[in-house]
Amino acid sequence: MDIINILPDSVANQIAAGEVVDRPAGAVKELLENAMDAGATQIDLVVKDAGRTLIQVIDNGCGMSESDARLCFERHATSKIHRADDLFAIHTMGFRGEALASIAAIAQVELHTRQMGSELGTEVVIEGAKIISQQPLSCPTGTSLSVKNLFFNVPARRNFLKKDSVEMSHIEEVLRRVALVHPDIAFSLTSNGKTVYDLKAGNMLQRICGIFGQSYNERLYAVEEATDLVKIKGYVCKPEHCRKTRGEQYLFVNGRFIKHPALNAAVEKAYIDLVPERTYPSYFIGLQVDPSRIDINIHPAKTEVKFVDEQALFSILRAAVKRSLGQFSLATELRFDTPEEFNIGPAPQGYTPQQPQLRYQPDYNPFRPQPSQTSLAFSFPDPPPHSPTPSASTQATDEGDLRLKASSPSCLQIQERYIATALRSGIALIDQQRAHERVIYDRLMAQLESHTPDAQTMLFPVTCSFSASDSEMLTELLPDLKAYGFDIAPRGGTTFVLSAAPSDIKTSDLQSVLDQLLSDYRGSTMQRYNNARQSISASLARQMAVKAGTRLGQEQMQQLVADLFACPMAGTSPSGKKTITIVHPSELLK
Ligand code: ADP
Ligand code: MG
Repeated sequence: MDIINILPDSVANQIAAGEVVDRPAGAVKELLENAMDAGATQIDLVVKDAGRTLIQVIDNGCGMSESDARLCFERHATSKIHRADDLFAIHTMGFRGEALASIAAIAQVELHTRQMGSELGTEVVIEGAKIISQQPLSCPTGTSLSVKNLFFNVPARRNFLKKDSVEMSHIEEVLRRVALVHPDIAFSLTSNGKTVYDLKAGNMLQRICGIFGQSYNERLYAVEEATDLVKIKGYVCKPEHCRKTRGEQYLFVNGRFIKHPALNAAVEKAYIDLVPERTYPSYFIGLQVDPSRIDINIHPAKTEVKFVDEQALFSILRAAVKRSLGQFSLATELRFDTPEEFNIGPAPQGYTPQQPQLRYQPDYNPFRPQPSQTSLAFSFPDPPPHSPTPSASTQATDEGDLRLKASSPSCLQIQERYIATALRSGIALIDQQRAHERVIYDRLMAQLESHTPDAQTMLFPVTCSFSASDSEMLTELLPDLKAYGFDIAPRGGTTFVLSAAPSDIKTSDLQSVLDQLLSDYRGSTMQRYNNARQSISASLARQMAVKAGTRLGQEQMQQLVADLFACPMAGTSPSGKKTITIVHPSELLK
């Protein structure tokens, strides 16, 4: 007796359909993706009864021809793969020509579509994979696809559906994931006649606010990083907005939402030391990775992926988030990771360092003294006051100082020019002058931002005079210089009277400091500095920094190293020169 049967197509389709569409949200995802693939700029999703009775996606994309409108429901019908090569390239994107065939096998589907330039559109009605009717129809360009009575012929699946509220929350989540990576596309969601989302096209931040509320505008820091392995772009919440439950945590790779426990952990780890235990950040982060570095043996409908360079991605992502939180500490990075991954090795030939960008968060670490309290000069903040009943804030400072000392390894000065200090991953050689320039520059910029220049009024105003062109430039810069605490008044001709200046500039040096500043300003290029203040800060930092040839004490070195590592751009001086070189253990072995 023969026992083998060939399954009828309809049954095979139903089985396959279960893989693609396990619940209404699965169908929603496929239809939204098709609409985006069709180049739509407006996509409207309409559902009834959490998708049980109706899922309709209306797009203004390219539409389909009369015959494509029928063909699209055939298994392996796709316009997106032509050759086997393509398959390799886009496999991870899930183009397999299966979605519509699967959906048509388990629902009653109505397709209205019209191509741009065609006078008439087409209507196709298909039910349980059988074409019921096809006829010309007048309709707008684009496609409207209605999926009615999902699982009407698969009672087992239908019975597996959860309460409407649960199915609806899955649908909303699918829409959010898609909408977050495509802020340039307008989306709407209507459920049982009520508008759930009406998202205008915009940028990513506007999209986040459109979905989660306007308050997110204030809650987020931007994250951006570009290395050979990965480009990162997105937003993370400020530490004070972390919550006890994992809320909005969105990671996207090459435009698709993914779940990746290690990368999710990388983001959370960046908040360690900033938030209490078991509080979690919200984030919206997109990664661009070479698709060939992603393991393709992963089901495209799933959200799990594997990366070849997982370890490196982890480090880069964590470092990028840390930096955006303004508490990027090269020291911690170097202690726990392999530093090559963070592009701080020797610069390749022809490499022009990028314009250092100041992303200084004065509040990056509650334990460190505020910039306005620390002096510009190479001195140390006063010890925290000791009162018999310490207030919360002085306690915190005490603790901070302890932490600082405990974590500062001892330093060795070499040739009165370099500071050597041990890191877990080797030895850091730090150029003391460049490092100090970076520290002063960041402090100056932070003071400018907070309008708290550290200035002193002079008992005896000083008169300075300049060349004709310098005095012209100085006059132009007066408003900017005022922000640094300079009080300079023109006294006719090329003479100026100075009655206040930043505290750390000696009165006797004022003329030469300003001469140098004006000369630096004249020589500075727009490629390096975005605005006058960056150029002025760089010049002042260079002039105030401790010079090569100055002997430094142990404490001074430790303070400088700690200050440097607390700078977001610790690796370069304000003028783009390298501040730190790492000698790796492997090199030490040699
Ligand atoms: P895939 O997306 O993997 O190609 P689908 O079954 O989802 O497979 O779709 C089959 C084909 O139908 C697509 O390749 C595309 O040519 C066409 N199609 C589906 N939806 C739309 C749409 N909204 N607009 C235009 N064409 C569409
Ligand atoms: Mg598709």
